[in-house]
Formats: sequence, C-alpha cells, structure tokens
Amino acid sequence: MKYISMFFIMFIALSCKDQPNQISKKNTNQKNQQFALVIHGGAGYIKDLPQDIEKVYREKLNEALETGYAVLERGGSATEAVRQTIKVMENSPLFNAGKGCVLNSLGKPELDASIMDGKTLNAGAVAGVSHIKNPIDAAVLVKDSTRHVLLSGKGAEEFCQSKGMKLVPESYFITEKRLRQLKQIQKKEHQTAKNHLSYIFNGIKKYGTVGCVALDKAGNIAAGTSTGGLMNKQFGRIGDSPIIGAGTYADNQTCGISCTGTGEYFIRTAASYSVSDLMKFKKMTLVKAQKQVIDRIEQLGGDGGMIGLDKNANIAWYFNTQGMFRAYKKSNGEKKIEMYH
Ligand code: ASP
Repeated sequence: MKYISMFFIMFIALSCKDQPNQISKKNTNQKNQQFALVIHGGAGYIKDLPQDIEKVYREKLNEALETGYAVLERGGSATEAVRQTIKVMENSPLFNAGKGCVLNSLGKPELDASIMDGKTLNAGAVAGVSHIKNPIDAAVLVKDSTRHVLLSGKGAEEFCQSKGMKLVPESYFITEKRLRQLKQIQKKEHQTAKNHLSYIFNGIKKYGTVGCVALDKAGNIAAGTSTGGLMNKQFGRIGDSPIIGAGTYADNQTCGISCTGTGEYFIRTAASYSVSDLMKFKKMTLVKAQKQVIDRIEQLGGDGGMIGLDKNANIAWYFNTQGMFRAYKKSNGEKKIEMYH
C-alpha cells in the first residue's frame, strides 16, 4: 500500500510539472510567429537605370520597407504596417501614387486605393478621388467606419472630410514630370491614332503603382495597393487597384496579394483572388499560383506583376515585365531590394 501511494504521489507531481512546460511551449510558439513585409513600387520597363536614379529608388523602397517592418516589430497589426508603408510611397513623387501620380486625359489626378484585412476579410477602398492626400488612409477609413467596401469620387471625399480628414487641392499631386509625360503621350497617341489600354511613354511602358503585404506577430495578413492609374486614362476610368479580388486580396487561410500592371486584365482575371483560390482549392504554392495568374494575363495581352506572402511568411513575386520595384524583410533576418529580372 505504501508503495502504491508513493507511486501515486510521484505520478501527480510529474503530471503537474508537465503542465507549465506545455504552456511555456505554447508561449514560445507565439513568440516564434514569423512576421514579414513585402512591397512593390510598380512594374514595367525598368532596366539598367542610371546609378543615381537607381540609388534614389533603392533608398525610398528601403525607407518604406523599414517603416512597415518597425510597426510589425513593435507588435503592430499587419493593416497598420501596410498603411504606414504605403503612405511613405504615396508621399514620394517617385511613384505613381499620391503626390506625383499620373494624370488622366484631362490632365487631372484621379487616385484609387484599397486595403484588406485577412483575419476578418473586411476591406475598404476609394476610387477616382482627387483631393485626398493619402488615399490609403481613406481606404482604411472606409474599412473601419462604414458598412461599405468601395466609395468613389465626391462621395468618398465628402465622407473623409466628415471624418476630419483635410482635403488638398488637385495641384498638390501634379508634378512637372507628369505634365510633360502626358503631353508626350497625347502627342504620340494623336499621331498613331491608337487607343492603348496601357500607356506608352518614350516607347516604353512603365507603371508605378505601390503595394504592400504584411504578416504580423499575431499571424494576421493584410494587403493594400495605391495608384494614380494609367497615364492619359479616360476621365472616370477605374483600374484594378481599388477592386478587392483584382488588385488587392488578403485571407489568413491562404495569402495576401497586391498587383500592378494594366488593370483591366487584372480585373478580368480576378487576379489577386484567383491566387488565393488556387492555393485554397488546388493546394498550389504561392509562387505557382502567381505564375498561373500572370501567365493567363499575358495570354490575354496584359502585363504587370504581383507580390505576396502566405501564412508561413513565404514571400513570392512574379511579373512578365522587364522589371518591378520590389523588396521584402522577414523577422528571420532576410532582406532584399530588387528592380530588374
Ligand atoms: N494597375 C494600375 C491600374 O491599372 C496601374 C499600375 O499598376 O501602374 O490602374
């Protein structure tokens, strides 16, 4: 009897000892959740840039990347990291988003942006706005403060103003460079009398939309995209960037995606959603799914690219253009900034 009760006491003691171990293992797993951020600054004819120009782009991409990464590092959400990263690029005239965006056929800025939270599948977007300094902020506002997903034009601007956002004049967005490009492309289009879906500048196609996808410490994915659209676009035209499932998509179960390129093709192929769908139902890897969608876009005559990450912090990008401004940073220390093929 004495031996039996000793055995019983030892058994209880050992079981109790096991419990804290299990809990601490769980905590360690949470701490070990990898986090990561991937960005793009548009795809197109990006080849052998002069060293000084390459340096300027590299520095701005790095600033955007580090801004978002710092949010994740201090435990911020993926959506907040995406918002802050995109704002850095919107505030720079280097990209076709926010300040320095391309202009429509009337010489006016019309901007689009979207953001999606992969945990709740909640999303927000604005399209065709001309007075909102940071369209990505407006997209977040639509996501968090309305029962809608997409607001456009005047309605979007008045809504943002009612929420305390200060509007800016159209002139804030317009740069000399973009005015010059618009004049050149209009002259060229007049000469060739062709109506391209993509724009041609000096014989080269170049996009410049910006996007970001993040995975935070809690394992949540978010994606966002912001753009001025296509140079010399028809007044009122809306591209893929503010369309959830076309230019932007995020689902914690699969991946987050942000696209750039001739938006019409990304809308027609439901590009970003298709990647998630192929992963979910065909069990494809992120990069394989991206390739399948971009190949389909190419077959239809479109071009561009996309960035993405999955729930395990695998990062992938794919494009059928000469280059794409892109970068990523992961909590395991990996970091890359690239432009060319
Ligand atoms: N996808 C954008 C649009 O069609 C353009 C771009 O990516 O530069 O509006």
